[in-house]
Amino acid sequence: MVGRMTAKPPTRVMITPPMLVEYPAALAPLRDAGCEVVVNTGAYPMSADQLAACLKGATAAVVGLDDLAASVFAACPELRLVARNGVGLDNVDLDAANQHGVLITAPFGANSTSVAELAMGLLIALVRQVIPTHNRVQAGVWQRVPGMELAGKTLGIIGLGRIGKKVARRAQAFNMRVIANDIYPDLYFAREHTIPMLGFETVLAESDIISLHVPLTPLTYHMLNRTTLTQMKQGAYLLNTARGAVLDGLALAEALDSGHLAGAALDVHPVEGVVEAALLNRPNVLTTTHLGAYTHDALQYTTEVAVQSILQYLNGQRPSGLVNPEVWDRRYADR
Ligand code: NAD
Repeated sequence: MVGRMTAKPPTRVMITPPMLVEYPAALAPLRDAGCEVVVNTGAYPMSADQLAACLKGATAAVVGLDDLAASVFAACPELRLVARNGVGLDNVDLDAANQHGVLITAPFGANSTSVAELAMGLLIALVRQVIPTHNRVQAGVWQRVPGMELAGKTLGIIGLGRIGKKVARRAQAFNMRVIANDIYPDLYFAREHTIPMLGFETVLAESDIISLHVPLTPLTYHMLNRTTLTQMKQGAYLLNTARGAVLDGLALAEALDSGHLAGAALDVHPVEGVVEAALLNRPNVLTTTHLGAYTHDALQYTTEVAVQSILQYLNGQRPSGLVNPEVWDRRYADR
């Protein structure tokens, strides 16, 4: 009797950010490798329940800002690798990923130029009142409000990592004095670019503008709060392109109301898709919709890097951008 051959089903790779359908060239290597690639066309970002349903049966996934809670890993036993297409990991329960043996990768550095460029754009727009002026002109009002020159002013960077460093170099090109704080300072970079690494409170007290570039962790949650905002210089500006919850929005509203701070630009918000009510409708608060890494260039590049890490895994290689190497060492190192 001739045995019946059963073809192995293709490896399923789920792509959760719907906009990535617009980057077919970045996804093509997965299809070329014989994977079944499914791009989510539904809700985004997904709750843990939605994500668990979406990732059922997938071996690997490219995941955006969806809630990668412990319940997702528990519900998806086939899942082997999740490639974030951004660098923030605050939406990933890493302990649960480790426990379930799921590799997590991130495209470190692949979107830092886009975020740094947005930070510079927000900075200029904020201190020169570009948006309120535009809005007045549209309403038929010709009015000029004096702004602040950047040259000679001090920019304080909290978190001198990949993005912070790019902001620092761009600010120096504007002849700004740059100072910074970081818990793991890159002293070589700081020395090479003449950036004093100072204590957090000192950076707050000396800066005309503070720009936040730390990840959201238990240590950085509400790092800028009622107490620390008061430690900022009178009349200073604040930029947040990191994560919304690094900043206490109500405390910021108070600091603006009292006139202690001159203004703020916020690209990120504690709840994705919602600007805190206390910060709405203020001419000195500029809000954007988590646009930092949202350029064609960064979307293309981060997707390419995510796809590469999945293919490396499928080919038995250690994926690049691995966040939890302990899972690789435990499960795959001697395959
Ligand atoms: P990175 O890891 O290269 O840099 C982060 C830096 O913060 C590191 O040098 C780290 O040592 C420092 N840091 C961590 N905790 C700190 C603390 N308590 N005090 C001082 N410094 C601390 O990361 P990156 O690529 O520069 O990205 C930074 C963050 O920006 C991401 O985690 C993400 O949340 C956010 N981000 C936002 C966007 C956007 O679209 N707005 C896009 C990408 C990244």
